[in-house]
Amino acid sequence: MNQETRSCQNCKNEFVIEPDDFVVYEKFGVLPPKMCPLCRAQRRLAFRNERIFYKRPCDKCKKEVISMYSPNKPYPVWCYECWFADDWDATEYGQAYNPRRSFWEQAKEVYEKVPKVALIYVRSVNSEYVNISADNKDCYMLVESSNNENCIHSYWIQQCNDLIDVSFSHKTELSYESDDCYNSHKLFYSKGCYDSRESYFLLDCRNCSDCIGCVNLRNRQYYIFNQPFSKEEYQKFLADAQLDTASGVEAMREKFSTFLKTQPRKYAEIMNAPGSSGNYIADAKNCRRCFHSYDAEDCAYGEHVWRNAKDCVDVSTAGRNARMIYNSINTGIDVANHVCCAQGWSSTFLEYSFNCFNANHCFGSAGLRKKDYCILNKQYSKEEYETLQEKIINDMKITGAYGEFFPPLLSPFGYNETVAQEQFPLTKEEALAQGFKWEEYPRGTFNKETINWDKVSDSIHDVGNLDINKEIFACISCKKNYRIISREFDFYKHLEIPLPRLCPDCRHTRRSQARGPNRLWYRQCMCDDKIHTNTAKHLHHSGGRCSNEFETSYAPDRPEIVYCEQCYNSEVV
Ligand SMILES: [Zn+2]
Ligand SMILES: [Zn+2]
Ligand SMILES: [Zn+2]
Ligand SMILES: [Zn+2]
Ligand SMILES: [Zn+2]
Repeated sequence: MNQETRSCQNCKNEFVIEPDDFVVYEKFGVLPPKMCPLCRAQRRLAFRNERIFYKRPCDKCKKEVISMYSPNKPYPVWCYECWFADDWDATEYGQAYNPRRSFWEQAKEVYEKVPKVALIYVRSVNSEYVNISADNKDCYMLVESSNNENCIHSYWIQQCNDLIDVSFSHKTELSYESDDCYNSHKLFYSKGCYDSRESYFLLDCRNCSDCIGCVNLRNRQYYIFNQPFSKEEYQKFLADAQLDTASGVEAMREKFSTFLKTQPRKYAEIMNAPGSSGNYIADAKNCRRCFHSYDAEDCAYGEHVWRNAKDCVDVSTAGRNARMIYNSINTGIDVANHVCCAQGWSSTFLEYSFNCFNANHCFGSAGLRKKDYCILNKQYSKEEYETLQEKIINDMKITGAYGEFFPPLLSPFGYNETVAQEQFPLTKEEALAQGFKWEEYPRGTFNKETINWDKVSDSIHDVGNLDINKEIFACISCKKNYRIISREFDFYKHLEIPLPRLCPDCRHTRRSQARGPNRLWYRQCMCDDKIHTNTAKHLHHSGGRCSNEFETSYAPDRPEIVYCEQCYNSEVV
């Protein structure tokens, strides 16, 4: 098929369906999309509440639990123990398909009556407030993460130990407030670092140690704002900077942010990823328009596509051996052949299904575990299943629905509880006008603080008198109340980090915003030897501006100096 330009039925912007896309739609047997990639991502993400939690009773055992579903939600929510117990079976809620009614209506009935699990996780040990996560131990407030130990307030981390406020990192330990770090140790306020140690405020550094405020460095030690110093000079600078105080950290944050605007940035964080476009991609092949992707192949229009994912298209999280996944969210751990599903774990051949675990060949179902051949949660034989599945797909193709994600009203969440609100913020009026729900249930408390920040010592060394288990703080930005748990307090004292004056949500938002949006703009390389004085000759454009173009997540009005790969490599590598 040739490339086609269509008008998005939602935002009316034009979007392109590439020949490779048509091949994918044919392979999955779905109709080509009627919405642009951004509207498709927004629709999926409106079904995904990752980190807005509430206290509520389990509707089965009545125990109070932490849940991603607010207490006023009109469907049953069960605690982890009740939901994963063997004394119930979600096929009890099964109903027969009625070809004279819309599939969406019938699916909605099933999704709403089947109990939902308060938080989704598996094999979690001694970990509270952990959601959409697996195999974590002694963690607290951890989302989208697996195989971690002793990590707090972190997002999308894998195989890490002893972290607080870290996102998108792997095999990193004893670090704080960092993003996109790999194989690193004791990194603070840093981003985009590999194999680095004992450093503060680094951006895009590799194999560096004992550095402060550096950008684009390789294999360096004792550097401050990209300049070399002796060990003694470095240690004196570090002591004078007083990074054990909140004011010292904020002063250094300010200085670093001014410095990094003078240093060129690579158009995208793409490493060893031939045929790929997007941002934050490593060790991948042919991943088109993917954001945050590694160890993946032949994927497109995805975010969080990782750990041996292949042929995953239009996905928001597909990993840990995910194969052939289309238009789905949160799909992982040996999954294959999903069309339009949410939270299908260790399952294969799922379509339009929610929260199914170890299920195979199921359609329009919810909350199934270890089940095969179910439609709308009703059990069928293999032959019956195949006949009815074909009939429903044909019915959905007649209405143009097959391949489209669920309509927004089927989402169990208000738009303002979901990741869609983080990436595509809307007012209540806008969200309702676009068919999304809105949740008014109050979150958190205000004005309940027991201590004001002006009564707390600037340095972590002088907070010994705080009874941390009793104190409630107020965020200096959004004013919301929050606590610092005792393990967290010990970590700050041990690593000489001042107590955070921002609440965990504002800290998460600050890290997310620093990553840039999951979208791309066509731009020309800014290298002209005037905007930044280069240190090396760029032979491909001697005397004039580099003509290379690229797709980048740096919007044209961003302040960064954005270089193409060739210019960036001439300067940095
Ligand atoms: Zn659109
Ligand atoms: Zn319960
Ligand atoms: Zn806040
Ligand atoms: Zn260039
Ligand atoms: Zn250049």
